[in-house]
Amino acid sequence: MNKYELIVLGIAPAGEQAALKAASLGCKVAIVEALQSEKPPPPPLHPGFHKEPTAALFRYQKNYLFEENACEIKENLKRNGVDLYQGLASFEDPHTLVISGPRPQRLQGSYILIATGSSPYHPPEIPFDGKRIHDADSILTLKKAPKSLCIAGAGVIGCEYTSLFSSLGTLVYLVNDAEKVLPQIDRELSSELLYQMKRAGVHLFLGTRVERIENPEEASRPLKIRLGTDVEIEAECFLFAAGRLGNTRTLKGERIGLKIQERDTIGVDAAYRSNIAHIYAVGDVIGFASLAGTNRDQGAAAVSHIFRKNRAPHLPKAFPYALFTAPEIALVGLSEEEAQKENIDYSTGIARYDEATRSKLMEEARGFLKIVFNRSTLGVLGIHIIGPLASELIHYGVALLENQKKLDHVAEDLFTYPSLHHLYKLAALDGIKNGLRR
Ligand SMILES: Cc1cc2nc3c(=O)[nH]c(=O)nc-3n(C[C@H](O)[C@H](O)[C@H](O)COP(=O)(O)OP(=O)(O)OC[C@H]3O[C@@H](n4cnc5c(N)ncnc54)[C@H](O)[C@@H]3O)c2cc1C
Repeated sequence: MNKYELIVLGIAPAGEQAALKAASLGCKVAIVEALQSEKPPPPPLHPGFHKEPTAALFRYQKNYLFEENACEIKENLKRNGVDLYQGLASFEDPHTLVISGPRPQRLQGSYILIATGSSPYHPPEIPFDGKRIHDADSILTLKKAPKSLCIAGAGVIGCEYTSLFSSLGTLVYLVNDAEKVLPQIDRELSSELLYQMKRAGVHLFLGTRVERIENPEEASRPLKIRLGTDVEIEAECFLFAAGRLGNTRTLKGERIGLKIQERDTIGVDAAYRSNIAHIYAVGDVIGFASLAGTNRDQGAAAVSHIFRKNRAPHLPKAFPYALFTAPEIALVGLSEEEAQKENIDYSTGIARYDEATRSKLMEEARGFLKIVFNRSTLGVLGIHIIGPLASELIHYGVALLENQKKLDHVAEDLFTYPSLHHLYKLAALDGIKNGLRR
């Protein structure tokens, strides 16, 4: 039986970073992945997707990038001395894993890191068929964009699919049981996204839920989707995008007493350690935040904790989040609501995109950047951005939080002119002015 210091379960993106980090520390590492990926198709990517989006082109780009990425990741892991195994991993005992396949293999690990991700949740009342009634995975098999689509759930996945299908010309009905979309983000960003969705022609049904779906046999007849408010929506297709389950069932964790919590996720402490001291878990399988970028950092942070346990590991204080909705959203640190809950005496500074000279040169530049800060110390607590390139702009915000910068530092920092980063300076100046008002 092959023995390793660390065995990582699941390659991407949380597992990949964990395995690379451990290999860079000189450890003997193996990674196990259930999926077998093919080589990417030969034709290149189509750079004009944003100008002429079609469902077929989107599917092609998505498959191409997925396969290319998978091949690159595997090559990189091999180059860095990580042993790759293909098959489903399950526990035989707390240190031994069985890898499925025509000839099952057994591996032994001093430490095991679970990064097996998540899958869409299927509530019993939704008659999924993978043809017209979809989950977040099967919707990607559609060959062409439907004329109309009803989406249930306005979390990250529901909002991103709303933006995607709306940009492909589909009439989208978005249904959400709460009044607020994207419950985890700052209220003002959420309201701005709703405003922009409405402007793009999305029909919103908030504070209600899908009660029943009628799926007629003739494909030419629309689905009938009955909402709690007695409203009935007719649509060509339906997507259930509310909730995911951690991929823990295949692990057979019950054999070793691994604690599985609600939604099949693994409970962990601040260092990503499960209830079993040598077993760690990161990424979607632990639940929130379930975002690719954050998961990568979690993988690396867990490995720091495992192999440098005599020194204090650097666990990042603030993880950034980016959502590829239209417009983009990005955030790091505390929102206003969170600052209120923590009884912090806070204030905010806001800069609208149309205040920055650079955005006047851009086609669609609506949105804003907001800084939440501590009113007495001027310390930056959070950055919240909605608008073009938000997912790029956020990185300066991450550095502000990591380095515990104050608002007056931001106001004095130098930026190229004209640049979108100038929004930080404008928001800081606005904040200083607001902070002086009591
Ligand atoms: C529609 C959609 C939109 C999204 N948009 C964004 C976005 O805009 N920004 C963002 O940051 N994130 C986004 N996400 C989330 C992001 O994709 C996930 O957070 C991320 O992929 C999860 O990473 P992970 O490594 O935890 O798991 P995964 O990427 O799910 O990888 C887990 C791997 O483990 C393997 N595996 C499972 N069980 C086993 C086993 N027993 N043995 C061996 N291998 C196993 C699986 O085959 C899989 O390859 C989106 C997700 C969806 C579905």
